[in-house]
Amino acid sequence: MKIALIAHDGKKADMVHFLSGFKKQLQNSNIELVATGTTGSHIEKIGIKVQKVLSGPIGGDAQIAAMAAQKELTMVIFFRDPLDKHPHEPDVQMLMRICDVHNIPLATNPAAADLMFKQLTSQF
Ligand code: PGA
Repeated sequence: MKIALIAHDGKKADMVHFLSGFKKQLQNSNIELVATGTTGSHIEKIGIKVQKVLSGPIGGDAQIAAMAAQKELTMVIFFRDPLDKHPHEPDVQMLMRICDVHNIPLATNPAAADLMFKQLTSQF
């Protein structure tokens, strides 16, 4: 199982907070994590292992979308910041579209991610 993690700058603290609540379950599971570059660096700081791709604005979202299209992802958690502008908005839209095309669960806020993560980790 592989879960992709992406957080816009205004939401990186939320991502770290969210993941810290599931640290134990993650360590005891076969879940692999992949994240866009800067999000991944923040996640590593709390001792969670994560594969990093490029930073979002320079192609990281597109790399995650390619993984989704190739059915390599179990879930995508993408904490978007709806109150900020993003130079890579076309990539953001593309990633969400690819998730819908391939029916990949996509959580865009902590409440949704919490529900989905609890369901997934209840299997362990
Ligand atoms: P980042 O990319 O984790 O490298 O900041 C996230 C994004 O803005 O798509």
